[in-house]
Amino acid sequence: MVCKGRLARVGSLRLNFIYGRRCGCVLKESRLKARAEGGVKELLEYLGEDVSRPGVVNTPRRFVKAMEELTRGLREPPPEVVFFPLEYEAEVGPVVIENIGAVSVCEHHLLPIILRISVAYVPGNGIPGLSKVIKLVKWAAARPIMQERFTEWIADLLMEKLRAKAVYVKVCGVHMCSFIRGAKDEHHSMTTEAKRGEINVRLRCKRPLSCR
Ligand SMILES: [Zn+2]
Repeated sequence: MVCKGRLARVGSLRLNFIYGRRCGCVLKESRLKARAEGGVKELLEYLGEDVSRPGVVNTPRRFVKAMEELTRGLREPPPEVVFFPLEYEAEVGPVVIENIGAVSVCEHHLLPIILRISVAYVPGNGIPGLSKVIKLVKWAAARPIMQERFTEWIADLLMEKLRAKAVYVKVCGVHMCSFIRGAKDEHHSMTTEAKRGEINVRLRCKRPLSCR
C-alpha cells in the first residue's frame, strides 16, 4: 500500500498517504483490495462458515470496507487546523475539550477500542478552531493503536498541529479484546495520560459505554 513520494512526518510516526487517482496507484490498490477480501473469505472458511451462503457472500467486501473506515487515518492526511486571531491583549489560559468520542482498533487483535479523549492545551500563535481539534483527534485515533503509545503520540501531534505552548491528554478506552474475549471483563476501562510543557488543569474523562 506504500506509495512512494507521499510520505510525511507527523510527530514521530511516518505516515503513508495514498492518493490513488493522483499517483496512478488505482490498479495496484484494487488488486491489493481483492487480495484482502480473498483473505477474509479464507478466514471465514477456516472458521467453518459456508461462504456461499447469501448472508455472508458479500461479507469479505463489507469487512474490508469497515476496516478501511476504522483505519482511515493511515491513508488520509490529517485535517488542517484553522487558526483565529485573539484580537485582545491577553495571554490565553488552558483550553479544555473533554470527552471527544473516537474509535480505534487494537494493533494486537484488530478488535475495536471505544475511546473518550479529553485534551487541554495552552494556545501559542493563534487560536485553533474547536471543530478542527475534534476532527484531528478522531483522525489520529483511526488506526491500529497501542493505547499507551497512542497517548504519547497524540500529545506530540497536538503540540505540533495546534502550535501549542503546552498540552495535556487523557485517554479512556474500553478494549473489546479484553471485554468480549480473553479476560472477558465488561466492567474495566483503561486510562492513560501524557503531558507536554507547563499546564495545570484537571482533566476528566468519562468511561465509554457508561450508559450500559
Ligand atoms: Zn487487543
